[in-house]
Amino acid sequence: MPDQSHRVVIVGGGAGGLELAAKLGRKFGPGHVFLIDKAESHIWKPSLHEVAAGTLDIHREDLSYFMLARESGFTFIQGEMQGLDRASREVSLLPVSSPAGLEIFPARHVAYDTLVVAIGSKTNFFGTPGAREHAITLDSTEQAERFRQRLLSLMVRHAPAVQRDGGPGDAESPGLEIAIVGAGATGVELAAELLEARAGLVYYGLHEQSSGYGMRITLIEGADRILSALPPKLSSTAQSLLESRGVKVLTGVRIASVSEDHLSDKEGKRYPTDLCVWAAGIEAPSMLSELGLETNRANQLVVDSRLRTADPCIYAFGDCAQARWAGQDTHLPARAQVAHQQASFLCTALGARIPGTAETNQDFEFRDYGSLVSIGHNRGVGSLMGVMSGKSWFVEGLVARLMYMSLHLAHHLAVLGFGRTAALALGRLLLKRGAPRVKLH
Ligand SMILES: Cc1cc2nc3c(=O)[nH]c(=O)nc-3n(C[C@H](O)[C@H](O)[C@H](O)COP(=O)(O)OP(=O)(O)OC[C@H]3O[C@@H](n4cnc5c(N)ncnc54)[C@H](O)[C@@H]3O)c2cc1C
Repeated sequence: MPDQSHRVVIVGGGAGGLELAAKLGRKFGPGHVFLIDKAESHIWKPSLHEVAAGTLDIHREDLSYFMLARESGFTFIQGEMQGLDRASREVSLLPVSSPAGLEIFPARHVAYDTLVVAIGSKTNFFGTPGAREHAITLDSTEQAERFRQRLLSLMVRHAPAVQRDGGPGDAESPGLEIAIVGAGATGVELAAELLEARAGLVYYGLHEQSSGYGMRITLIEGADRILSALPPKLSSTAQSLLESRGVKVLTGVRIASVSEDHLSDKEGKRYPTDLCVWAAGIEAPSMLSELGLETNRANQLVVDSRLRTADPCIYAFGDCAQARWAGQDTHLPARAQVAHQQASFLCTALGARIPGTAETNQDFEFRDYGSLVSIGHNRGVGSLMGVMSGKSWFVEGLVARLMYMSLHLAHHLAVLGFGRTAALALGRLLLKRGAPRVKLH
C-alpha cells in the first residue's frame, strides 16, 4: 500500500502538468496528488492563436480544473506560486481574487514531499523598447481574448462607412495593419488563423473586399527564413502558402523598437501598424531564478537526465526547464510534444517516490516524431520522423492538418481518457456546426 503521507505537488496545469496530475491522480488518488494552477480552467496553449483570431470560443474550449480533479482523482488548489521554502518544503501562493477584486482564497502555503515545477514560459521581449507597452502577446487566454477584442474594435473603426453607418462606402479607408513579430510556430499559425477569420467577416458586415477595406498582415522574422528551427523545406512551403494568401513575409528584419502606431528596425526603417503581436521568443517566469536553484539566462530550471533539479525533492519539466537532448548537442525544444512525453516519463518516475511502489532509475529519452505547423483549417505543413528508419518525411495539406489535430487529441486522451474524449469531441463537433465560424461578440 502506498504511504498515505507522501504528497506530490505539481505546480502548473498546462500541456505537461495537467497530464501528469491526471495520470498520477488515477493511480494514487487525491491524498497523494495535488495540482496548483493560477487559473481556474485549462486550455491547451497551442490553441491560443485560434482564440486570438476568434475562430475558437474560449468558453467552449476550456476545461475546469475542479471538474478535472474530481474526474481524475487529484486535488486542485487554485493560486499563483510566488516562492518556495525549501527547508520546510512549502510552496507559497498569492491570494486569489475575483475580477471585481473580492478575495476568494487568501495567501497560502502548500506542503510537499515531492515538488514538480511545470509553470511553462512567457514572451521574451529581449529588452526591446516599447514592446512590453505596445505589443500584445499570446501567453494566456486573457491575452488572446484581449487581442481578439482589440482586433474587433479596430476592424469596426477601420471599416468603410457603408458597413459602419449604412452610408456610402469609403474607398479611402486605409485598412487595418497587423504586424506579427517572430515567425516561429506561434507567429506563423496566428497569421494563418487571422486569414481564416478574415474570410468569415462577411457575416458580420465587416467584409474586407467591399469598398476597399482590407486587413493587411505582415510577418516579420529576424532570421533569414521563417520557422528557422524546422527543416528548410517546411519553411519555404509555409512561406509560399502564406504569401499566396496575401500575408507579407519579411525575413532578416530585426525590430529595434515598438511604438503605438509603428515598428522600427535596426536600420531605422519604419513599419506602420495598428496592432502588433510579439511572438519572437520565450523565457520562463523570473520567479524561478529566485528559488536558489540553478537556472539559465531564460530563467529555466536546469534539470538532469531524470528531470531533477539539484534539490532531490524538486523536479521540473516542459517549457520552464532546461534539459539536455540525449544524443544531440543541444537542449530539448520548448514544445508541447516534449512536455507530453516528459509527463508520461514522470508518471513512472514519481510513482517510484511514493513508498510501496517499484523503484525506477531510467533516464528520460525524447523521441522526436517531427514537427507540424497549422496553416489554416484545411492546411498544414510538417516533417514527420520515420519511427523505424529515423528519416524525415515531408507532409502537407489536409493530411498534415489532421496529424496536427491529433496532438491535441493525444493531450485530451491523456487528461480525460478515451470515453470522455470521444464524448467531448462529438459534443464540440455538433456545437461547431450550429455556431458561427468566427467569434466577434
Ligand atoms: C500560440 C501558440 C502556439 C503553439 N503551437 C505549438 C505547436 O503547434 N506545437 C507544439 O509542440 N508547441 C506549440 N506551442 C508551445 C506549447 O504550447 C508549449 O511548449 C507547451 O504548452 C508547454 O507546456 P508546459 O506544460 O511546459 O507549459 P504550459 O502549457 O504553458 O502550462 C503552464 C501552466 O502553468 C500555469 N502557471 C504559470 N505560472 C504559474 C504560477 N506562478 N503559479 C501557478 N501556476 C502557474 C499556467 O496557468 C499554465 O496552466 C505553442 C505555443 C503558443 C503560445
